[in-house]
Amino acid sequence: MDFTFNDDQELIQKTFHDFVEQEVKPHADEIDERKEFPMELFRKVGDLDFFGMRYPEEAGGSGVDTVSYCLAVIELARGSLSLAAACTMQSLMATYFLYRFGDDELRHYFDKALKGEKIGGICMTEPDAGSDLNSIRTKAKVFDDHFILNGMKTWVTSAPVADFFTVFAKTDNHDKLSIFFVPSHLDGVVVGKNIDKLGVRGSVTSEVSFDDVKLQQNCLLGEVGEGTTCLREILAEIRIMTAALSVGVATAAFEDAVEYAKTRVQFGRPIGKFQAVRMKCADMAVQLETARHYLFYAASLTDNDLPRQKESMVAKLYASECANSICDMASRVLASYGYAAEYPLQRYLRDARFLLIGGGTSEILGINIGKELGL
Ligand SMILES: Cc1cc2nc3c(=O)[nH]c(=O)nc-3n(C[C@H](O)[C@H](O)[C@H](O)COP(=O)(O)OP(=O)(O)OC[C@H]3O[C@@H](n4cnc5c(N)ncnc54)[C@H](O)[C@@H]3O)c2cc1C
Repeated sequence: MDFTFNDDQELIQKTFHDFVEQEVKPHADEIDERKEFPMELFRKVGDLDFFGMRYPEEAGGSGVDTVSYCLAVIELARGSLSLAAACTMQSLMATYFLYRFGDDELRHYFDKALKGEKIGGICMTEPDAGSDLNSIRTKAKVFDDHFILNGMKTWVTSAPVADFFTVFAKTDNHDKLSIFFVPSHLDGVVVGKNIDKLGVRGSVTSEVSFDDVKLQQNCLLGEVGEGTTCLREILAEIRIMTAALSVGVATAAFEDAVEYAKTRVQFGRPIGKFQAVRMKCADMAVQLETARHYLFYAASLTDNDLPRQKESMVAKLYASECANSICDMASRVLASYGYAAEYPLQRYLRDARFLLIGGGTSEILGINIGKELGL
């Protein structure tokens, strides 16, 4: 087994590391405080070809491996989880179904999205349908040459700035989910106000309603009733990506805590010399190292075309729980400074809660891991 990164992977890590140090970290607190989509930085991430990393070159992407993609995601999340959440959404969920099923007309949106010039949102969740996607009520009425879409979605990442949506709905002739492409400028598409939230506040989210929206035939992505099957194609990758987001924010909290433990002096010595603080740093290191290594294991299964359904869930569940545990321990090491708004640790702590929800809650992942075990 090879546990080293190759030259290309190291170059990608360094590129994103330097970008985050120079361009993201200085603005990360401001992104959180303003609660606005960080458009300028989003476009700069587009200039780094991030949005096309996981798409093949013939589709306009750079076709890099999952390990490289995770290295970039970790770096972005280390700087700002708000920015990283918006960018990862654009690079996978918001564009994947367009890539797989879009015709020439729709591919125009895909091409622009890879450059960050058009922004996409994914609409699955509804007020009464979160983990249980089968209870989605958004309905598409089927006509000979078009569809009429009605329904209400919520928690749609990037919705206030989105040019198009990928919408999960049921058709009136099928009880399983279908997927529709919906440009945001169409009559009947209404984006609600930004949902004010605890963390990832620069990754704006809102409700989106569809009121008699007329969609042409080519807006059906895939076959009627095939939505859940299509979603499964990308779910493992989404979970591995969310594990990378988790490792990123955990790394930021861990680095701040160790630095603080070395420099904060109490009772005549750096607090890291006290066993209680040293053990917390060691516990953080153990969790971070194991989450990080398991993440790359799951990513390398993808790159080697090996089954990774269970492993992607293990990676996401473990890394997101570790991120929250590490942020909590780091906050204890910094004590009052971890509580102060002017230090980023409180932001990491708030942002990390999102990772327990997006990509499947820990409870849902636990249930599905159990199923993989034959239980
Ligand atoms: C910041 C943010 C961004 C988001 N972005 C998007 C987006 O872009 N697009 C989108 O469609 N959605 C998005 N979501 C929504 C997200 O996907 C849902 O919140 C998630 O699926 C969970 O649904 P829920 O919040 O309705 O919780 P529920 O499903 O209502 O769950 C509530 C609690 O019950 C537990 N639970 C539910 N069912 C079971 C069960 N069978 N067994 C055991 N426990 C169970 C859950 O684990 C959880 O603890 C976003 C959410 C957040 C917070």
